[in-house]
Amino acid sequence: MLNGCEDMSTNVFANIAEQDSGSCQGDLSYIGFGDMLLFRDVDIAPLETLLERCRLVSFVAGDLLLDPSKGNEFFYLILDGGVSIYLDNPSDKPEDKAIAMLSVGECVGEMSMFDGKNPSAFVQANDSVRVLAMDNSTLWEMIDLSHGLARNLLYLLSKKVRMGNGAVTDSIQRQEKHKKAATCDSLTGLHNRRWLDELLLRLKGKALGDLSPLCLMMLDIDHFKKFNDNYGHQTGDEVLKKVASVMQYRLRPNDMVCRYGGEEFIVILPSSSMAAAKRIAERLREGIEEESMMHNNLPLSPVTISIGIAQWEEGQQIDQLIADADAALYQAKAQGRNQYCCAS
Ligand code: GH3
Ligand code: MG
Ligand code: MG
Repeated sequence: MLNGCEDMSTNVFANIAEQDSGSCQGDLSYIGFGDMLLFRDVDIAPLETLLERCRLVSFVAGDLLLDPSKGNEFFYLILDGGVSIYLDNPSDKPEDKAIAMLSVGECVGEMSMFDGKNPSAFVQANDSVRVLAMDNSTLWEMIDLSHGLARNLLYLLSKKVRMGNGAVTDSIQRQEKHKKAATCDSLTGLHNRRWLDELLLRLKGKALGDLSPLCLMMLDIDHFKKFNDNYGHQTGDEVLKKVASVMQYRLRPNDMVCRYGGEEFIVILPSSSMAAAKRIAERLREGIEEESMMHNNLPLSPVTISIGIAQWEEGQQIDQLIADADAALYQAKAQGRNQYCCAS
């Protein structure tokens, strides 16, 4: 028969003993072990003596059952209430979401029982939680005694491993999403200046030489301010999107394009001589001029761009290449816009 707070209270579970003495209750007989996954199809009778060595412990909402910065001496089977699992301390990061919630019949702490290490996550009580706390040697004795319990424990453990894998996958996906958002221009979908800065950091010395012959173009929409003034910022945004999509459509797969700022774009053309770059510039200029832009269902006057092209020379710094393309763009503007100019 399971009974006896007095028996169970003889254990020496240090941190649990520190808890409110009222938390220890002795009568385990009312617990529906058979309904709990850990004891499913398990003959309880041979385990009774071991169960009597366990202890009933209560936690209140917010209490930490497991804390990775501390050791753990117990395996907890949840009898009442629920707990949440967090990768970071929920007190430090209350905005973080739990990676999982566990309720009656589920257990926590088994991993540190098996590998002897600190818990891998924070486990916090959601509300009033009552658990059956089992120390390491009791758990191992149960495993030795009951094949069924060992099997159920393996099943519960595999659920945890899956949960951990799921959290890792989620976190990688989230990181990738953030990274993409950080290097992507939300209006046009093109890469942004940050992406270019990162690329240019990598494109130094030999890396730059490997792309040679290499040209860089700087493009700027003509009289765009007037465009916004006449038709509104929203239509201006639509024009920016259209220009970006024409560029993507008319560039080659290896060309790299980014929105450098407002209505300015940079295109890096690997393996391109100046002659090839001129052809590409003309293709873009022409494609954008031909694209019909609408405002209130009425066609707008053609949008045009000016382009400055510079070719990379052995030993040249990328900043200088950009400055050369910018100077050529300035020249194209000065010569009447809607054209390209090459750096001398
Ligand atoms: P230029 O031919 O000399 O380049 O003349 P411009 O009017 O295009 O150049 P300016 O630098 O005077 O004005 C650029 C304009 O681009 C001003 C700004 O309102 C507009 N602009 C910049 N970013 C955006 C944007 O994201 N959306 C819209 N709609 N307009 C933008
Ligand atoms: Mg500009
Ligand atoms: Mg402009």
